[in-house]
Amino acid sequence: MKLSYKEKIARRLTIVTALIVMVVFGVIYWVVDFTVVGNIDRELDLETNKHVGQIFLEDGEIKFIHKDEWMEEEHQEIQLNPIFIEIVDLDGNSMDKSPNLGNHRLLFHPDWSSKEGASTIKIGDQLVRQKQMLLNHEGIDEGYLLVATSFEDTQKLLNNLRNILLLLYPGILISLFLTMRYLAGKSIQPIKKIISKTNQITQSNLNERVPVLDQKDEIGQLTRSINDLLNRLEQSIIREKQFTSDASHELRTPLSVMRGTLEVLIRKPRTSEEYVNKIQTALGSIDRMSAMIDQLLALARVEKGAPSPKDEVEILSFVEEMAAQYQTDTGREIRFKTRESMPIFVQVSEKSLVMILNNLIQNAIKYSEGPIDLEVKIENGKPMIFVNDQGQGIAAESIKKIFDPFYRDPSALEKLIPGTGLGLAIVKKLAQESGIEISVSSESGLGSTFRLGF
Ligand code: ADP
Repeated sequence: MKLSYKEKIARRLTIVTALIVMVVFGVIYWVVDFTVVGNIDRELDLETNKHVGQIFLEDGEIKFIHKDEWMEEEHQEIQLNPIFIEIVDLDGNSMDKSPNLGNHRLLFHPDWSSKEGASTIKIGDQLVRQKQMLLNHEGIDEGYLLVATSFEDTQKLLNNLRNILLLLYPGILISLFLTMRYLAGKSIQPIKKIISKTNQITQSNLNERVPVLDQKDEIGQLTRSINDLLNRLEQSIIREKQFTSDASHELRTPLSVMRGTLEVLIRKPRTSEEYVNKIQTALGSIDRMSAMIDQLLALARVEKGAPSPKDEVEILSFVEEMAAQYQTDTGREIRFKTRESMPIFVQVSEKSLVMILNNLIQNAIKYSEGPIDLEVKIENGKPMIFVNDQGQGIAAESIKKIFDPFYRDPSALEKLIPGTGLGLAIVKKLAQESGIEISVSSESGLGSTFRLGF
């Protein structure tokens, strides 16, 4: 069965309250029962003790110390708290009884010599509390005194109390359930509004937001969290769209170049030199496209793939080896610098660190002509790697955008420096994934420094 939230709250609260009320009612009934029955029994005790002192049996004969008290009115009448008295011999045969008993007899229990407590019995159609006392004269058991008092009023009181509690119980629970249901329904009203608003938001109206009703309460917090989530979603969809349109644009450019080149080529017969030239231009376009596809695939792998496992990398020797390798491969002056003498270990995916440094070093090679410095040091207790070049630097307005996919500084385009604008986007993703802080500083004409902090 599918229950609404308000129904669930109302049910749970009602079940808990039902148990509590049941215990409270039980205690009330028990306390009243204990008190009124206790009062009657005390009265009965007084009465029994009084009469035990007045009566004794001698040779099967009843003797009274104060016959007048024995003849009191309450023993004669049936109305108003009558006291019933009967004297029986050891076998339970009635010897005498108070006139208010009429034809009835009190109940004799041969097993009880003297009963401590009283018990409830029925005489005729009347309920009474009865007590039994052994009559002992000069050390000889001679019979029993049975004393009883009416229990009718008490029983009526207890029955009334029980009936009222039994009637009240479902009444309280039903009204409680309905009230809880109403209040729970009222309190989840704002949530219903949030649900209906979020259901209306689709990709086409992703700029709409859920109105925040109360800033401070939890529902306000929930609304703000949903709105923040929508903001992030909207931003990522905008980025995604931008990325797709940039990617298609970037891939279309070399394709158009290739198409133009080939169209020119087939228009009329050419010399073999012209063929070679044009085919080389087309091959250049193909190289550009395949470089871009490689970079796009690398970016997709970083975004979609599981984070690479972390290794323990000693960065002093690691960076030194990379510098030496690049110097050998490219013939450029790549200097390794450090003031640290002890090995520095960092927890990082070695594969990601290689890709990040490859991109930064390749950029430094592309965008500068002078020597390139790779430096390792500890700054404020944090291991750092610096990639520094003495090239043209990056313009202040470009520095914020160089990590965006496909962004290329106009100067790089002007100088026809080959590139896709994806290298630093990949570096940023890898750094985020590996927990490396990346920052850049640059001065026009003096060079740029990329810093990696672990
Ligand atoms: P690409 O190098 O393929 O153009 P990147 O994402 O690696 O793409 O770099 C983005 C842009 O940042 C480059 O086009 C360039 O303008 C600028 N850039 C990156 N590194 C350097 C550098 N060391 N010196 C000057 N400009 C740089």
